Amino acid sequence: MRTVIVGAGLVGLTTAASLRLIGHEVIVLEHAPQVRAAGAGIALWPNALRELDTLGVGDDVRRMGKTVDAWFFDAAGHPMRAAGYDPAVHQLLMVPRPDLNNLLADTFGRDRIRLGTHVTGFTEYDTHVEVHLADGAPLRADLLIGADGVYSDVRAALEPGSTAVKHAGNYAWRAVLPSGDERPEGTFVTIGPARTRGGYTRVTQGRTMWWVAQFDAGELVGSKRDRALRRARNVAESGWHDELLEMIAATPEESILENQIMLVPELRRWTTDRVALIGDAAHGLSPHIAAGGTLGIEDAGVLRAELASGSATAASLARYESARRVRFEQVREHSAAVEHANGAAESAERYAAFTHWMITTTPTT
Ligand SMILES: Cc1cc2nc3c(=O)[nH]c(=O)nc-3n(C[C@H](O)[C@H](O)[C@H](O)COP(=O)(O)OP(=O)(O)OC[C@H]3O[C@@H](n4cnc5c(N)ncnc54)[C@H](O)[C@@H]3O)c2cc1C
Repeated sequence: MRTVIVGAGLVGLTTAASLRLIGHEVIVLEHAPQVRAAGAGIALWPNALRELDTLGVGDDVRRMGKTVDAWFFDAAGHPMRAAGYDPAVHQLLMVPRPDLNNLLADTFGRDRIRLGTHVTGFTEYDTHVEVHLADGAPLRADLLIGADGVYSDVRAALEPGSTAVKHAGNYAWRAVLPSGDERPEGTFVTIGPARTRGGYTRVTQGRTMWWVAQFDAGELVGSKRDRALRRARNVAESGWHDELLEMIAATPEESILENQIMLVPELRRWTTDRVALIGDAAHGLSPHIAAGGTLGIEDAGVLRAELASGSATAASLARYESARRVRFEQVREHSAAVEHANGAAESAERYAAFTHWMITTTPTT
């Protein structure tokens, strides 16, 4: 089976390695000149590590990251945690995102990744699919996977009118710095007033990520550092988070990532007989539940299992879509519940309910 995957992000690379494992001849097309070299840290949950174990890299990823024991705090620094859950519900693995993507690229095989290749759409036939490129002749494939993120061109061709929309007012700022004398256990997340949240955590030995986010962020003025600092002051009441302010103030402007959060609208379909969307291309959500990457890696595991089942490709894709859509209906409900939680205690409660659900209902692949 000749499979073309669009996008060398976290999900595209995992999918590529997963489908190679079941004998597909896979090519990845990526429009950037290199596999993602920038980025902060990403939180991974056990469901993601399970698929990475299947690929033989789970332990490498565990070694590259840092396990974080997650607490919620109010703006005055009072720790909160939902009671009655297994400790695993409060533990996630922080990993430096560029290191993870590079490991996945090496695992899949860099000689099969075509960089600087922009995909503009596709035409599907009974016998094959033609992948259209901005430069050069179309590529012929038996299967096309759109792993090209929230702004997916594959999705635009599959479902015209499905452009990602701004999650109004929802912004995030992040950076990774050499670790200093801040608390090594980090502060995971403080819920401040005005729908702001933020904190810092080690992402690997010697490197710390700070982050700040706000729903209803209002007008953005000044430098990225000014914008992040203004929100961080909400999570630093009573001196509780002075080191967060110090870290942001010391971060070079060019090292700060600022994201307007985008949402992928609910789609009529994720697949056709020979084309499938995966990861953020299918279901990009607000990152306040820190699970988009994990859920995209889960997608890859389900797709691999369905395509390995021996059924016709169209039937396998249909089963993949129906399993993942059911899961995402529930993810959207949890995401909204966490977004609209009132204060730190309720946020901790709703987030634990989400992570408990997510890790105890992992799809069997
Ligand atoms: C601020 C923030 C914090 C987050 N924190 C977490 C977290 O802690 N944990 C977590 O699990 N998730 C987190 N997420 C979500 C997570 O980043 C995404 O769910 C994940 O990166 C999706 O991966 P992907 O491979 O589907 O898409 P992407 O990472 O967006 O990759 C898409 C790739 O496709 C390429 N591409 C796009 N269009 C084309 C084209 N036409 N032709 C060729 N190539 C193309 C792009 O260059 C890119 O390399 C966060 C997101 C944000 C914004």
